[in-house]
Amino acid sequence: MAMGLGCTARPGRSRENKTGSWRVFRPVFVHEKCTRCGMCTTVCPEGCIMEDEEGLPVTDYDYCKGCGLCAEECPSEAVEMTKEEK
Ligand code: SF4
Ligand code: SF4
Repeated sequence: MAMGLGCTARPGRSRENKTGSWRVFRPVFVHEKCTRCGMCTTVCPEGCIMEDEEGLPVTDYDYCKGCGLCAEECPSEAVEMTKEEK
C-alpha cells in the first residue's frame, strides 16, 4: 500500500479513545491565580479544557493525558501537575 509523506494527527483525537487512563500526572487548576487568559485551552493537544460558568478552566479527566503543556504554558503558574493516585 502506498503511503504519503508525513502524517497528521488532529487535536482532540482522544475523543474517540479515552486517554485519561494513561495519565501519570494530573493538572490541578488553581483558580485563585488564574487570569482567564485562555492559553491552557489553546495549547491542550486533547482539546479537553473547557471554561466553567465563571470562565475558569476545568479539564475533562476522561481525556486529559497529563502531558503538562497547560502547566508549562500558563503565564500565571496557575496549573500544578500532581502525581496521579491510582
Ligand atoms: S493559562 Fe493559566 S491563567 Fe490562563 S486561563 Fe489557563 S490556568 Fe488560567
Ligand atoms: S495535561 Fe493539560 S494540556 Fe495536557 S492533556 Fe491534560 S489538560 Fe490538556
